[in-house]
Amino acid sequence: MVYNWQRLLFPPTCLICGLPGENDLDICDHCRSRLPCNRLSCACCALPLTGQTDAGVLCGNCSRHPPPFHRIISPWLYEAPLDDLIQQLKFGQKLPAGQLLAQLLAGMITERDRPELLLPVPLHPAQLKKRGFNHAAEISRVLSRELGIPWSPWLLRKTRETLPQHNLGKRERKRNLRNCFSFDNRRHYRHVTVIDDVVTTATTAAEVASTLKKSGVEKTDIWALARTPTNR
Ligand SMILES: [Zn+2]
Ligand SMILES: [Zn+2]
Repeated sequence: MVYNWQRLLFPPTCLICGLPGENDLDICDHCRSRLPCNRLSCACCALPLTGQTDAGVLCGNCSRHPPPFHRIISPWLYEAPLDDLIQQLKFGQKLPAGQLLAQLLAGMITERDRPELLLPVPLHPAQLKKRGFNHAAEISRVLSRELGIPWSPWLLRKTRETLPQHNLGKRERKRNLRNCFSFDNRRHYRHVTVIDDVVTTATTAAEVASTLKKSGVEKTDIWALARTPTNR
């Protein structure tokens, strides 16, 4: 366990229940055990599959139309008490929540085939100015430190403003995001991982992966904290 002056002044405290944190993290073991695991899910897009017990199974959508990304890793479901932590980061700009979420995610990454670079899903500059903060960049920064993988908040950019995805149907969501990202691959990256907080429909993941593919990236993974239980 690492002690530094900050930890002496601010000992680990569970951000969910307020009791002392454990394992030098801002979460207690009880609350950690209550995080909603996304155990049985599509091996490609991490969509929860009800009634499925075998690992390595694909959902109907990924079987019929293989997506442009290699794999989404999303260890949890977007449910209590994880949703509250994500909202603390996203809308309350509470950096301790971002740090904890990224540390928890880092602990779930067992892949041996590590990417060359981590890329947060970008916000459009106007959106970033309004919000003052990109929560995916905050998660990427801590993940980079925890896993020893470089990250860049500049190379993947959002070049066009889009409508909020949640009010749109499947086709509109695709149209809404089409060609809204750009990637500067002058360093010829071949394997990168895109970082997001929540994967809802995987439309964003697919659009980003298409952009990266056009720039010469051969393998794109997505690491996100949480998956919603439906693709609709
Ligand atoms: Zn707790
Ligand atoms: Zn799938």
